[in-house]
Amino acid sequence: MTENKAASIQALKFGERMYFPSKVTTVDTSGERLRISLFGGIEILARAVIIATGAHYRSLPIARWGEFENAGIYYACTELEVRSCAGREVAVVGGSNSAGQAALFLSSRGCTVDLVVRGEDIGVRMSSYLVNRIVSDPMISVRASTEITALEGDTSLESVRMTNSVTGEEAVKPCRGLFCFIGADPASGWLYGDCSVDGNGFIRTDAHIPTEDLGKHWQNLGRGPLPFETSIPGVFAAGDVRHGSIKRVAAAVGEGASAVSSVHQVVGVRL
Ligand SMILES: Cc1cc2nc3c(=O)[nH]c(=O)nc-3n(C[C@H](O)[C@H](O)[C@H](O)COP(=O)(O)OP(=O)(O)OC[C@H]3O[C@@H](n4cnc5c(N)ncnc54)[C@H](O)[C@@H]3O)c2cc1C
Repeated sequence: MTENKAASIQALKFGERMYFPSKVTTVDTSGERLRISLFGGIEILARAVIIATGAHYRSLPIARWGEFENAGIYYACTELEVRSCAGREVAVVGGSNSAGQAALFLSSRGCTVDLVVRGEDIGVRMSSYLVNRIVSDPMISVRASTEITALEGDTSLESVRMTNSVTGEEAVKPCRGLFCFIGADPASGWLYGDCSVDGNGFIRTDAHIPTEDLGKHWQNLGRGPLPFETSIPGVFAAGDVRHGSIKRVAAAVGEGASAVSSVHQVVGVRL
């Protein structure tokens, strides 16, 4: 039995109702109960909601991207991904710390690394301790003002075309692994309204909510947000969609379980 199936059976034993596949389109917070609308017209009334809709890792808008995902294109850089390209030519896309850490990790596994950065200076968004290690690493070439503009290969990625946005110069480089670290977009677009989010749309919870965002909802409650509670009382967020989350499976699972504990406080469940 898969773990998913076991979890579903356990939930059903406790009288859960499940709707899947089913897309949430809105949460109306104006009434006494939260009103959740599902695509297709179903409405659910609830005293508490946990949002765990995750985030989508950004990709590059170039031909054949989907074809090479998991066949040379990766969004993480652990032993697992590196196994398939250790000692080979690889490219890392991105100018933030995660890209820098990936480049150093790949170099330590014998890879020849092109670090492809759209801006002209890697020091703008990357910590100086990483920049210093990268520029002195003979296995890493920094390609500033450069973008990947084409992908080539048969059933897996074999080479990439790089274009310098200043000179227009193009180069085709062998590439057995393309590691993409250009951020993630939270699946929170459906939650428009008065929920506090950060500049990128990740949902703010508890101590991360600025006081000015704790408006009318909280005036008569006599309490502040509980752990994982958003700026809307009774609405919680856990996992990748949450501002400040670690973006790992174990963290998302733990956050969800901890959010349930806060839900119990809101709905007055005694355990
Ligand atoms: C390519 C890749 C590799 C990764 N590798 C690792 C790894 O090796 N180790 C690790 O720990 N982590 C890894 N991660 C990160 C890990 O997958 C996430 O941190 C984790 O899945 C987050 O869990 P979550 O429940 O918050 O979101 P998700 O797992 O993204 O789940 C969100 C769910 O909500 C659904 N959803 C979205 N919007 C709506 C809506 N409006 N209505 C209804 N449902 C909706 C989505 O369809 C999805 O099923 C990887 C991620 C990626 C993309």
